[in-house]
Amino acid sequence: MTEPTTASVAVVGSTDGPGAPPGRSPTMTPAERRAALDAIAAEVRACRRCPLSAARANAVPGEGDPDTEVVFVGEGPGFNEDRLGRPFVGRAGDLLVRFLATLGWRRQEVFITNVVKCRPPDNRDPEPSEIAACEPYLRRQLEILDPALVVTLGRYSMARFMPGARIGGAHGTMAPVDPATGARAALVYALYHPAAALRSPDVERQSYVDVAGIPAALVEARRRRVAASGEGAPLRSNPPQAVEPSVHPAEPPTLF
Ligand code: URA
Ligand code: SF4
Repeated sequence: MTEPTTASVAVVGSTDGPGAPPGRSPTMTPAERRAALDAIAAEVRACRRCPLSAARANAVPGEGDPDTEVVFVGEGPGFNEDRLGRPFVGRAGDLLVRFLATLGWRRQEVFITNVVKCRPPDNRDPEPSEIAACEPYLRRQLEILDPALVVTLGRYSMARFMPGARIGGAHGTMAPVDPATGARAALVYALYHPAAALRSPDVERQSYVDVAGIPAALVEARRRRVAASGEGAPLRSNPPQAVEPSVHPAEPPTLF
């Protein structure tokens, strides 16, 4: 297998030191972002808005780098996630970590969360009413995170960001995100759910191919954000080409 040339695109977050990701709105400092996400997590842990609260051991708000450019959105917590209060910590999570490793990314460099924050009993699918009740939490997380790229894991998450799409055709493709989702200027990139990949070697193979397309989607998302944020204003001291994959993003100047 040959490595795609974009595999060296690093995801930008707080671990990269000073410098905001390209095109990020300068409305919040990293500390404010972390505090706002912590406040939502506390609300989620106390939430009783839907019946899923009754059977949970722990709500699973999500976790990761508050300053990341990339947010992964799954369906809902499973057995292990419910036990530990953390997203993607079971076998599906192990596979997600392996996917990230093929890009040179670690889970703590991205943000990982779910459409519903509490485990549906017996791993049943979440009900539309439960998804609707939980919607404000993901929307508010995305407003704070302001990601360049939302990567959906499975159909329920994809339905939120690519309405009407079918996973069989949409996996491995990107589309602009409706800002009503909370992500004000993002692209969405669809993956199969890692649990589906665990059940089917064909889906697993295809998932690795799809994951290899994530860096190019991120580069395109950055390009659009820089173009949008730079309209008529000299926000950057060097041109948008600086975010092309040949240039390590640790180098770009700050936006402000
Ligand atoms: N599956 C999901 O959709 N989310 C998790 O957090 C874990 C497994
Ligand atoms: Fe609240 Fe969402 Fe949990 Fe339902 S799933 S109780 S809405 S946090």
